[in-house]
Amino acid sequence: NLSEKLDKALHVLKGHGQITEINVAETTKEVRRALLDADVNFKIAKEFTNTVKEKALGQNVLTSLQPGQLMVKIVKDELTQLMGGESEGISLAGDPAVILMSGLQGSGKTTFSGKLANFLKSKKTKNPLLVACDVYRPAAIDQLHVVGEQIGVPVYSDKDNKDPVSLAKAGIDYARKNGHNVVIIDTAGRLAVDQQMMTEIANIRDAIKPQETLFVVDSMTGQDAVNTAKAFNEVLDFDGVVLTKLDGDTRGGAALSIKSVVDKPIKFIGTGEKMDAIDVFYPSRMADRILGMGDVVSLVERAQEQFDEEEARKLQKKIAKNKFGFDDFLNQIQQIKKMGSMKDLLGMIPGAGKALKGLDIDDDAFKHIEAIIHSMTPEERSNPSLLNASRKKRIAKGSGREIKEVNQLLKQFDQMSKMMKMMQGGGGKKMMQMMQN
Ligand code: GDP
Ligand code: MG
Repeated sequence: NLSEKLDKALHVLKGHGQITEINVAETTKEVRRALLDADVNFKIAKEFTNTVKEKALGQNVLTSLQPGQLMVKIVKDELTQLMGGESEGISLAGDPAVILMSGLQGSGKTTFSGKLANFLKSKKTKNPLLVACDVYRPAAIDQLHVVGEQIGVPVYSDKDNKDPVSLAKAGIDYARKNGHNVVIIDTAGRLAVDQQMMTEIANIRDAIKPQETLFVVDSMTGQDAVNTAKAFNEVLDFDGVVLTKLDGDTRGGAALSIKSVVDKPIKFIGTGEKMDAIDVFYPSRMADRILGMGDVVSLVERAQEQFDEEEARKLQKKIAKNKFGFDDFLNQIQQIKKMGSMKDLLGMIPGAGKALKGLDIDDDAFKHIEAIIHSMTPEERSNPSLLNASRKKRIAKGSGREIKEVNQLLKQFDQMSKMMKMMQGGGGKKMMQMMQN
């Protein structure tokens, strides 16, 4: 399904600490393929991946500390935008508020009418009425009655009335007389888009002027769902979309395309046949679902942790063997920078504050430190005892710093090596735990 495919697409990013431009291109290509496979309209998929690529390169994914996560975030944010950004509710103004269902036969209008009534009923201030306006199939009227009984919501119907417009009006009258402040009108649909159905639903809409005209569509029909939405919207100019049958491993392609094709918000989703299988549509949650976000993020994080742990293990060995050098120091600085500011971190180490008092450690100092270390030869980095006066002078010159600073760094390095030795064997773990609190 789409989740798995996107997960695969993002896999490239998870496995690698470094993302190259080629990786970004590869990943976006895979994401595009996944979207196309999920029935997302070709043009939309192409635009989508172009935007993602642009943002990835623009936001310097390549040099960010956690490129995989940043990439996932960019994809997620774009998916969210594509589906409308914010969640939009339905309007229940008016007494009664009238909600009209439209859509093809089998899309799930009758089921959703029941779900929505049940959903609104649970908000204690709403007292909904269901109105059966499918005048062609008596079984459809019975179906709505069964639904109404299940959820304890009354159903207005009249099998002798074959005019959907007057039926809808009669239903609203009934609601007024009986204190129902919400009326949900279930209508007939056909198996394919046709003029007669369109005229009929448009006539009902014009006659009763509902607060909300909802277009119900079966998300399993993929690209057809998008085409149907387009046809209905041209005639009805509906207010919102209900995506049904989004349960199981239904492809989410329709959700991605519909909003951009008809520019109407998706308001609800149906996720099963039961009356409580209804959810308000949240674009960001849908994006999470499509991305299998939880999984992707935790995998990225785990990969990162493993990397850090391995580094820490290597470091402990070196410390034990007294082989801790400036390359490791540089590495440590980079790790620390990933975690937060130096001062904050040092503040969390018991006793460290005292030990390092007087040493001027601010975050800007990192840059100077790095410059100095970069001016050392590999031999000097792994064996700091080599650093005699003339070498120090050369390093100071090469890095554009003063000898005083080079000396200060050597002192700091010495302090740090000592501290690391002290923290060896469990101390590091404790430090990690403290930082997580
Ligand atoms: P209508 O012709 O538009 O009124 O569609 P119905 O409400 O009668 O639904 C058609 C079929 O789809 C029925 O078998 C429903 O049980 C089923 N259905 C509706 N919504 C959902 C849903 O969200 N998930 C699943 N799995 N089935 C649904
Ligand atoms: Mg029906």
